[in-house]
Amino acid sequence: MLTVNQKTGFVTKSPVLLFYEEGMPFYMRKDIDTTKGLRFNLPAGEYDLRLGDIEQNEIVQYPLIKMDLPSDFTPYPEKLKLVYKPTPRKCQIDVYNFIVYADPMFKLFPKYVFKWVFGHELGHFPYKGEGIKSERDCDKFSANLLLVDGYNPSQIRSAIDLALSNQLSSLCRKFNLLDNLKEVLQWTQY
Ligand SMILES: [Zn+2]
Repeated sequence: MLTVNQKTGFVTKSPVLLFYEEGMPFYMRKDIDTTKGLRFNLPAGEYDLRLGDIEQNEIVQYPLIKMDLPSDFTPYPEKLKLVYKPTPRKCQIDVYNFIVYADPMFKLFPKYVFKWVFGHELGHFPYKGEGIKSERDCDKFSANLLLVDGYNPSQIRSAIDLALSNQLSSLCRKFNLLDNLKEVLQWTQY
C-alpha cells in the first residue's frame, strides 16, 4: 500500500501504470513512452499500485484553465459535513445547516467523481445567474480544483464521463470542458 500524505509528483518508465484506491481503478495510463517516461501527481490518499514501477519526482505544475471573473460572489460555506442520502440532483449543499448531501451512487465510483461534482457545486458560490455560462464556469472551476489537489487531466476527463449524462445539454458541457482541458498543456501525456 502506498500512503501519500500530500499532493506528490511521481515518474514512471513502465509501459503501463495502474493504481487502485479503495478497491476501484483510480489512475490508469497505457502506451507510455518508456524512453521519455510519464510524470503525474497523486493527491493525498492510500493507493494500491497494481501495474508499473514509480519513483517520486517533482510535482507536475499543470497550467490551470483560464476563468472569467465571478459574476456574483457569495462567500464559501465552511466546515461542511458530508451526508450520503438519495439526492435527485446528485449533490446538494445545504448552506444553512453546513451539510453536503451526496447521492449514495457516488460510493460506486472512484473518489474523483464526487470531488468533481462537489467542486462544481462549490463553483456556484462565485459563478451563478448566467444560465449555461455559469454551468460551464463551474465545470472549469471544479477541474482547476482537482488539478490543484493533485489529480491529473485524464482523471478529470473520466470524472465528467462518469458524472454527466449523454443528454444533449450535458454533452455540450462535456465538449466544452474537454476543449478547455486541451489548454492544460501536455494534458494528452498525462
Ligand atoms: Zn451547476
